[in-house]
Amino acid sequence: MWKLSVLSLILLLCTQSRSYSLTVVVDPGHGGGDKGAVQGTIKEADITLNVALKLAAEFSNDPSVKIILTRPANTALSLKKRIALNESYKGDLFISLHVNASIDKRAKGADFYIGHSPSIEPPTVSQNNRVDSIVKNVDRTIRLYQSQFLASDIFDTWKDSLVTLPRSIKQGPFYVINRNKIPSLLVELGFITNTPEALELIKEENQTLIAKSLHKAIKNFQSRKLN
Ligand SMILES: [Zn+2]
Repeated sequence: MWKLSVLSLILLLCTQSRSYSLTVVVDPGHGGGDKGAVQGTIKEADITLNVALKLAAEFSNDPSVKIILTRPANTALSLKKRIALNESYKGDLFISLHVNASIDKRAKGADFYIGHSPSIEPPTVSQNNRVDSIVKNVDRTIRLYQSQFLASDIFDTWKDSLVTLPRSIKQGPFYVINRNKIPSLLVELGFITNTPEALELIKEENQTLIAKSLHKAIKNFQSRKLN
């Protein structure tokens, strides 16, 4: 009887460690009155929402990953509220989706942005504040490394989709990736100002391919976190 209880406990612990779940907050850029970049009838806000919904669908049968959309419909949402939502859902990963625009109509490809490196703040009057600032910088550096891993994963899996070519991984000044306290990435899916690319980005099958690339990268991130 005792042996049985110990066995049950071990089994329970094993099951619990296997059921580790990842909460991913997916943020379709813009929405509502803010259409984002526009070319003719093609709107950035529509593309980002469609890809986000398809990404959520990719995980519909995966109980180990919870996908939260900051906006599941064409509604307006401030950048501050996007961060607040992420904090309330206690996300492990934050991915913001956007579509690029350029005055150079030939510009094309997908870019992957992570936040800025922490800057060492000048010594403050209080030693406690200084220690606090160092700890914050260490946290931020770890988050940046994790974001960099995710960006590399997505850069690699992006090549499978062949919708837009992966162009670069950069550090960017964007609010949502710099204010978050978790690994965060902003993906520019391609250029709306490049007509052939914009026409590819609005195709439903291509949006599914992009969602599948993102799905694969998130699963890679999750398995790395489990190890
Ligand atoms: Zn945008």
